[in-house]
Amino acid sequence: MPSAESEKPEVTGPKFNPLSAEEARVILKKGTEAPFVGEYTNTTDPGTYVCRRCNAPLYRSDSKFVSDCGWPSFDDEIAGAVKRMMDSDGSRTEILCKNCDGHLGHVFVGEQLTAKDTRHCVNSLSMKFYPKGSDLPAVIK
Ligand SMILES: [Zn+2]
Repeated sequence: MPSAESEKPEVTGPKFNPLSAEEARVILKKGTEAPFVGEYTNTTDPGTYVCRRCNAPLYRSDSKFVSDCGWPSFDDEIAGAVKRMMDSDGSRTEILCKNCDGHLGHVFVGEQLTAKDTRHCVNSLSMKFYPKGSDLPAVIK
């Protein structure tokens, strides 16, 4: 088991939004929330999902779809918002917030669930939802 998880000082710096222990476990330690219990698993309201840690807009509700996988699923990200990285075991592609490197989840292709053939499987804890028409918070760079 890798013991030295990368602990970048800026990751725990005070400038980002404060996180609960569970949010930190997912976002900073690349954890996964339990399936089917996340706040946004089945939400369909129009609006924008931003990074819980830095407020960067990540996904729009138009890209959200029901996948029955137990986590919020999107078939596209807001252009330039998400970074992809191969997992250390080489089997899955991790997705991270491009602005703050916070862990979001994983992205899968080839499942043919939507026309875009892509599923971003995202932890609810990694995001915060802003309904359409509400002001988005300033992004913490
Ligand atoms: Zn972020």
